[in-house]
Amino acid sequence: MEAQILDSGARLDFDCAMALYESADLWHLGRLAENYTLSRQGRQVYYSINRHINYTNVCRFQCRFCGFSRRPDQAGAYVMTVDEVVSQARTACGGGACEVHIVGGVHPDLSFEYYKDILAGIRQACPNLHIKAFTAVEIINIAEKRGASLEDTLKELMTAGLGAMPGGGAEILDERYFQRVCPNKPGPRQWLAVHATAHRLGLMTNATMLYGYQETTADRIRHLLRLRSLQDESLQQGKGKFLCFVPLPYIPPKMIV
Ligand code: SF4
Repeated sequence: MEAQILDSGARLDFDCAMALYESADLWHLGRLAENYTLSRQGRQVYYSINRHINYTNVCRFQCRFCGFSRRPDQAGAYVMTVDEVVSQARTACGGGACEVHIVGGVHPDLSFEYYKDILAGIRQACPNLHIKAFTAVEIINIAEKRGASLEDTLKELMTAGLGAMPGGGAEILDERYFQRVCPNKPGPRQWLAVHATAHRLGLMTNATMLYGYQETTADRIRHLLRLRSLQDESLQQGKGKFLCFVPLPYIPPKMIV
């Protein structure tokens, strides 16, 4: 059955995907994936030289899997100044980076100007550097704090220099999973709404999936189907879309060196 499903080239539904996940031959899957890639873009590959900047580790939320965040008064908490962020971007640019990837905790107090100044400062210092910044949950926090819509907030950030959005915070797009693992954080519907809005405005975004932390195979499949459904809508509109999918393995704190 698996071979038939795979070779037909049909779109997978939940049941087919489950069957493949549990029993397909990995080598056969790999060959099909390679054939598909070759048919789309031949032997061309793309890469970017990218520098990550984490402007703060202070966060309003306490996701169970997170070893990064700190409360504001906790030892090790930090917030970079705008100048420090711009300086790191300038150093990255001088070292050959073509993109910065800027994400942080969901800080309770940083102003809208702080975020805009980061973007405008980098845009001015390094006009050709592509700025991918702020996950959906950070965008929701920024918009809520200033009492503006997601759309207006994203438009202003784009005017300041935002070029794309990373895909963090999706975890596993399942309401029950969020209830269990990060109950206070904006959930799957809100994550998808931010990306849908960004796509409508013409922004490219990434999609992620945190795997290896308490999710089931069915959770993974539903996650992928929800991403695919949004990608279908975005492709129809012909503006922004998911540019790539990044599976993120959960790394237990003891293994982080
Ligand atoms: S929102 Fe992000 S930074 Fe904050 S606790 Fe969750 S995973 Fe960590």
